[in-house]
Amino acid sequence: MSADCIFCKITRGEIPSKKIFEDEDVIVFHDIHPIAPVHFLIVPKLHIDSLASTDQSHQALLGKMLLLAPKLAADQGLKGFRTMINTGREGGQEVFHIHVHVFGGGTTLPKT
Ligand code: 5GP
Ligand code: ZN
Repeated sequence: MSADCIFCKITRGEIPSKKIFEDEDVIVFHDIHPIAPVHFLIVPKLHIDSLASTDQSHQALLGKMLLLAPKLAADQGLKGFRTMINTGREGGQEVFHIHVHVFGGGTTLPKT
């Protein structure tokens, strides 16, 4: 938990979100600025700054997050999707609480 982290606040229900899934470990909600018709974020409830801050102790949690992607993408009606984990400022990360972007349905994002 991090007091002023926006995704921790969403996890605690202090900031509203369009939630599509939640269990004891993760929360999943629609991105507030979608880059595709469907764009959601898979967020662990545990505050971890970024993928660069993970270690062996996070292996099961990271696996769980990735396994959720195809299930929830299908729930959202996607037949295919893209995943993205921005890591570090130079990697385009803006919110420093690790998350997996899942999006599909016609993104304008270039492939490279
Ligand atoms: P990053 O660049 O860190 O990988 O992505 C952060 C994402 O979080 C961005 O796509 C941004 O639109 C989204 N985001 C930032 N603040 C909020 C918020 O308060 N609610 C939701 N639902 N998404 C947010
Ligand atoms: Zn956090």
